[in-house]
Amino acid sequence: MFEKFLEYQSLDSQLLKLERQLMGDPSRQNIAKLSTVIRNLQSKLIELDNEAEKATREFEKLSGEYEKKKDLLQSMNKNKDISVETLQSQISSLNALVGELSSMERVLSSRAESISNILKNFDYCKTSIVTNKEKYRMCKEKSSSIEGTLLPQIEKVRGELLSMEKSLDSKFLAHYKRLRQSNVWPVFVPLRNNACGGCAMGLSSALLNKVHSNGYIECEQCGRFIYD
Ligand SMILES: [Zn+2]
Repeated sequence: MFEKFLEYQSLDSQLLKLERQLMGDPSRQNIAKLSTVIRNLQSKLIELDNEAEKATREFEKLSGEYEKKKDLLQSMNKNKDISVETLQSQISSLNALVGELSSMERVLSSRAESISNILKNFDYCKTSIVTNKEKYRMCKEKSSSIEGTLLPQIEKVRGELLSMEKSLDSKFLAHYKRLRQSNVWPVFVPLRNNACGGCAMGLSSALLNKVHSNGYIECEQCGRFIYD
């Protein structure tokens, strides 16, 4: 009594195979991965741009302070008419200024180095975006060509299944679709060694009698239809 259903199930298994082929296409999976990579790189680029701007502003501010201190030192050096007493009293502040200037130079050079690192990182991200966009484009091309082959086949089988459904018992069909949805597959299984051909649960003699007289039963364990 299940001939039509078995025919339907065998066509449906073709559909499953095609759908798995489409979903399992590596280029399709890479598209999702690559778009995440590109999005992350783009936000990293914005982050680095802000970082570079902030670091440059700080560097310029520090450079300004450094230049002012240097001018001060030069004006102290130029003052030749200064008396020996005043000069002596100024020696310590002069020394302090020289010390400050040299520590500022160290800070400035380390800031300059970190700015150059930020810019290098920025360039790396930019190049990386271009490379990944190209990879994305290639994957997209490949996946559309696979879709171009598989989607018409899938549509055709779906149409055939739909027209077969008209002649199928709606109660059985609803049960079938529920099981297929929950990945219980295949739904119609033969009786195999007095057990369910799907989950292999052994049947009691009462249930075996029922299969033989009814032509089928619903498996108590997995819900599949076991046919005689
Ligand atoms: Zn079973």
